[in-house]
Amino acid sequence: MNSSVQSNVIEKKMNIPYALPLVGEEEIAEVVASLTSNWLSRGPKTMEFEGLFAKYVQSPHALGLNSCTAGLHLAQLALGIGAGDEVITTPYTFVSTANTIIQCGAKPVFVDIDPVTMNINPNLLEQAITPRTKAIIPVHFAGYPCDMDPILDIARRHNLKVIEDAAHAVHTQYRGRMVGSIGDITCFSFYATKNLTTGEGGMITLNDPELADRIRVMSLHGMSKNAWNRYSDKGSWFYEVEYAGFKYNMTDIQAALGITQLRRLVNMQETREAYAKIYNEAFAHNDTLILPHDSAEHRHAWHLYVIRLKEHMVNITRSEMIELLKEAGIGTSVHFIPVPQHPYYRRLGYRLEDYPECMAAYEAEISLPLYPSMSEEEIRYVIEQVNRITAENRK
Ligand SMILES: *Cc1c(COP(=O)(O)O)cnc(C)c1O
Repeated sequence: MNSSVQSNVIEKKMNIPYALPLVGEEEIAEVVASLTSNWLSRGPKTMEFEGLFAKYVQSPHALGLNSCTAGLHLAQLALGIGAGDEVITTPYTFVSTANTIIQCGAKPVFVDIDPVTMNINPNLLEQAITPRTKAIIPVHFAGYPCDMDPILDIARRHNLKVIEDAAHAVHTQYRGRMVGSIGDITCFSFYATKNLTTGEGGMITLNDPELADRIRVMSLHGMSKNAWNRYSDKGSWFYEVEYAGFKYNMTDIQAALGITQLRRLVNMQETREAYAKIYNEAFAHNDTLILPHDSAEHRHAWHLYVIRLKEHMVNITRSEMIELLKEAGIGTSVHFIPVPQHPYYRRLGYRLEDYPECMAAYEAEISLPLYPSMSEEEIRYVIEQVNRITAENRK
């Protein structure tokens, strides 16, 4: 970077990390209570959290897990996806979406994104379907819903399952329907940076009670149902193993956090929404930026606030802009390094150039800080610095 793009002296420099969880007294009290309750592993708190979460997303069944990644893995295994099968997903996602397809022995098939929504483009889906295709995994990027009606319609016509990666989409609605109640199986993440956190954690929601049962058994060593209350006074020492299952269960310590976070979720979401609106209005006249898409038809969960730099209008690259923001004390991130770009996937023969919209989005994208524990003053500071940097480096 040459010195002419270095920032001028910033008055009142602030320090704003890219992401911080909102953990308060309530969370601490609930976790301490769970630690002194003698139930540390999966127990009553997990079941309570599952019930509350299922109700929240309007789904009949919810299963607490140790991650969203575990959920994606189990969902595919429970649907019988394995060697020789293909699963369609977006290249513009966190790598675990695709890794779990590989872990099942199947082949990921990437379908490019719609440049407006940055979600998988339903118009390109059908041409990617082969006789080996078993499922589609749409990812609700940044918390804005994928266009589910055409996706479900194509899936129905080709007899495919739809597993939603809803890691960004707690609170998202698609045409008035809660994400979590739409596809065959939905997988949520409660990782530390997500809108609702349990530190590490995840949840599966689904309609089909038999499938729910199978996933439950597979998530805890494949042990039969009798094992669930093995340590209670109703339980017995006897259990049977139905599958070579996994150790993917949620713990009551995580669930204690999750219950409190769920209680304050609507509040936290209102703050995200208000801040996103402030960003949108403040950047509306900055023509060097592409702003995130939104629509009154759906409810955006604003997990990420994603801007794209129009590099033809400025003298700096996206990466240089990230450095200038860092000098101004602002932490940012890039969502995502596209899956086909990672060395493992390149060795398998995938090429980012085959997904031109994904490549263009990746090269221009910056995720700005957006979380409920930020102050409005901090949001204003981010706006001021972004606008200053793009103005100083305009062509
Ligand atoms: C965070 C994330 C995941 C993984 O979630 P974990 O709970 O950490 O396993 C999966 N997909 C997307 C799109 C994510 O952002």
